[in-house]
Amino acid sequence: MLLDSAGRRIEYLRLSVTDRCDLRCTYCLPEDFKGYETPAHWLDFDEIERLVAVFARLGVRRVRLTGGEPLLRRGLPELAGRLAALPGVEDLSLSTNGTRLARYAAALRRNGVARLNVSLDSLDAARVEAISRRDVLAQVLAGLDAARAEGFTQIKINMVAMPGVGEDEVDAMVDYCMGKGFILRLIETMPMGDSGRGAGHVDLRPIQARLRARFGLIDGLVAGGGPARYLVSPDGRFQVGFITPLSQHFCETCNRVRLSVDGILYLCLGQEDTVDFRSLLRAGGSDADIEAALVAGLERKPLRHEFRERPGKVVRIMSSTGG
Ligand code: SAM
Repeated sequence: MLLDSAGRRIEYLRLSVTDRCDLRCTYCLPEDFKGYETPAHWLDFDEIERLVAVFARLGVRRVRLTGGEPLLRRGLPELAGRLAALPGVEDLSLSTNGTRLARYAAALRRNGVARLNVSLDSLDAARVEAISRRDVLAQVLAGLDAARAEGFTQIKINMVAMPGVGEDEVDAMVDYCMGKGFILRLIETMPMGDSGRGAGHVDLRPIQARLRARFGLIDGLVAGGGPARYLVSPDGRFQVGFITPLSQHFCETCNRVRLSVDGILYLCLGQEDTVDFRSLLRAGGSDADIEAALVAGLERKPLRHEFRERPGKVVRIMSSTGG
């Protein structure tokens, strides 16, 4: 079992396979962003597999493929298959913006991806285009239908709630998710980079109270490694989660670390503490060296982020860290 210095059990790795994205969401990736990692620094599939194998031997049980947009990384289903086959990896999932999901859903499912999170901030095409700076709603909805047809065990819709998000938009998303059997999660924007800070912050608690009353929802639990607090319909068929890093942070239950495409392990989304696994791998480090670096790194895992107290602190954007 992997424990950090606060006794938190670390069993969840968010693994970024690229820092590139085909969207430019206003709260995430600036339109003219130039700070991409050089391809020579990207971990290759052998390096990724080796790291994940060692992490899994030590106690990591869940792996989520993310980015950037992970479906931009060539050969991703092959990597998924290699990771799903590793001893100790019990749960392999993927976060995607859905633009390429119609093309890849079947191959992902075949290669052991069980659960999907798909980002979708609105069901209004013009609003999706305004947020993501691309006209992609129809593509994303087609991707979601393709994924549904493939029988993933769980599909969650991640909706970032920005200032100005209307009640009608949230209700439309609830109706859509109820109809399709998707789990909805509403997320507060985090002050990551100037783009994240510029997006402003919506406290989800009033939205939570309104949805509880409007749809007759009750408190509930949903399987998964994450920090969302859930409301469910009385028949249990619909679930909506609230991810509230600012209004109600959940750092005391943090169970995760994040590996960026260039092999840097981020110990906390909202802090700068890292472990450089790329240098270790490329200097010929042994599996024992990797184990020791991870265990020593977790001793330094920050107790919590300071998104509220120091909103200017994190200069890197979500897409670079691996969201
Ligand atoms: N491209 C994939 C996707 O869309 O899910 C994976 C990476 S994306 C960075 C992961 C999630 O981070 C998305 O749901 C996105 O909306 C969210 N995100 C990006 N910047 C954010 C911010 N500043 N605050 C909150 N969520 C953010």
